[in-house]
Amino acid sequence: MPEAPNNSTTDYSSLTEKNKKCLQFIEDVTSNPDEVQLRVLSDILTQNATVEYLHRHGLSGQTDRETFKKLVPVVTYDDLQPDITRIANGDRSPILSSHPISEFLTSSGTSGGERKLMPTIEAELGRRTLLYSLLMPVMTQFVPGLEKGKGMYFLFVKSESKTPGGLLARPVLTSYYKSNHFKERPYDPYTNYTSPNETILCQDSFQSMYSQMLCGLCLNQEVLRVGAVFASGFIRAIRFLEKHWSVLCNDIRTGTVNPVITDPVVKEAVLRVLKPDPALAEFIERECSKSSWQGIITRIWPNTKYVDVIVTGTMSQYIPTLDYYSNGLPLVCTMYASSECYFGVNLNPLCKPSEVAYTLIPTMAYFEFLQVGNNDQDQEPNPVDLSEVKLGQDYELVVTTYAGLYRYRVGDLLRVVGFKNKAPQFSFICRKNVALSIDADKTDEVELHQAIEKASGHLVPFDATLIEYTSFADTTTIPGHYVIFWELSVKGSSTHVPPSVLEDCCITIEESLNSVYRQGRASDKSIGPLEIRLVEPGTFDKLMDYAISLGASINQYKTPRCVKFAPIIELLNSLVVSNYFSPKCPKWVPGHKQWNNMN
Ligand code: AMP
Repeated sequence: MPEAPNNSTTDYSSLTEKNKKCLQFIEDVTSNPDEVQLRVLSDILTQNATVEYLHRHGLSGQTDRETFKKLVPVVTYDDLQPDITRIANGDRSPILSSHPISEFLTSSGTSGGERKLMPTIEAELGRRTLLYSLLMPVMTQFVPGLEKGKGMYFLFVKSESKTPGGLLARPVLTSYYKSNHFKERPYDPYTNYTSPNETILCQDSFQSMYSQMLCGLCLNQEVLRVGAVFASGFIRAIRFLEKHWSVLCNDIRTGTVNPVITDPVVKEAVLRVLKPDPALAEFIERECSKSSWQGIITRIWPNTKYVDVIVTGTMSQYIPTLDYYSNGLPLVCTMYASSECYFGVNLNPLCKPSEVAYTLIPTMAYFEFLQVGNNDQDQEPNPVDLSEVKLGQDYELVVTTYAGLYRYRVGDLLRVVGFKNKAPQFSFICRKNVALSIDADKTDEVELHQAIEKASGHLVPFDATLIEYTSFADTTTIPGHYVIFWELSVKGSSTHVPPSVLEDCCITIEESLNSVYRQGRASDKSIGPLEIRLVEPGTFDKLMDYAISLGASINQYKTPRCVKFAPIIELLNSLVVSNYFSPKCPKWVPGHKQWNNMN
């Protein structure tokens, strides 16, 4: 993720000074994290002493940790939903925060099939900017000279909607890119990107990608680092180049912009960068028309030092593809953040993806940790503090934020893998309950099961029933797509389920999945059509035999609803008899179902 602008500077000695200050800040806050955390909690509770939520739980102005922990419960999004709905409907009273709620950030997590809405306040933008400002000072310790060139980052805004009460609801990065913190940033060599702001802020995702790629190609010699937020987004950009290099080269050759760019603001911004350059066009054409695209990044952007994308968590599935395109350049995960709160940074950015550890910055929020496997459903969860976590132990992250979330379970599982001074460093294990994910989508087993049950209804008129299923996220296609393996039992050998019915099953599953999935399919085009692969009768018995041969207990064996292990996927693929794709995109409209019904 790109860093936020700091104060304007072109003078390298003051840049070095500024970097030193940022590194010193990290030293300071990690040297006494508990003290910092106590101060943060006290600040949050002081600022929000009068809010309804805290009063409801019996807190009347106390700001000490003991009282807070005794009275305020650990909660999930569903617990907060009634309060969030009130705010979304226009209640401006101080329910969660004493500061006005400036907007909702739509998280990629879902509840009831809809995006979660995270209330935020204006001051959070400053806190996010602070975290961004730490990234390049950290990075320059390992890769010097980055101030001498540009970053080619593919950054996008997504659609936004309004709640019935008139508050904007949009993803956190859309909110950030549209803010003056980003748009009006003074010149800074570390926020010097190949993409003009106008191309990033363009709502049309095709024009945005086209114009960003064109500018990136024009400035190829100046590019020192490339990236996107998530690995999936960067791979999509390379795929875009694969499809469109010929027209892009035409633009470079002639110095004119293809009419696909209809947005005049974007066109003007691109024309500020684009100059007729036949030699460059010829060079790019030569590279792109080679049969192998291995190392295409280093071939076209030869001065690139690293690829800046998140490849931890589910994004690790893209590492082999990135390695191939980049010829093994370092894949750098700089930060760990969410709509609820920005959490931390990677202080050793050139480490291997499997060794990435995030240091939570103790000033960002008040952090607590629920020990995994130690929380009896019937007992009140009892999280420990940042200073109490143990090396090697797994925890679920709980945050209390300045924006008004109190002891909120983020849903991420983290493992303590080391310490920076006295502050723990965490590896990201996974998000709880995610079975399938391609891009921002996170589909859990329950949701998948309900969708599949609904779709299997189409089989009834054909005397066919679904016996077993499993799924996997196929990222060998670009964009990746969900694959569902189905074993059917068909009564009477002459009956066949027509292909069109199985295609209907595909689209029914897609229509039943959450809004983040459907947006990825219909609007962002970041997910490909869902595929059903019919497998031979007896396939799932073979799967069980295989699992047992690997040591699974025969008594406890349950068909996994999602598979990741390559040999299992190979086994399933070897037993496929036919496959079907969703013939169209599922329906998706911005905003929430209930708001749209009001119109
Ligand atoms: P959102 O609320 O939509 O911004 O999504 C935030 C979630 O994305 C986090 O709670 C994590 O599950 C995931 N995420 C964010 N940063 C990282 C990272 N560096 N590594 C792995 N997962 C991440």
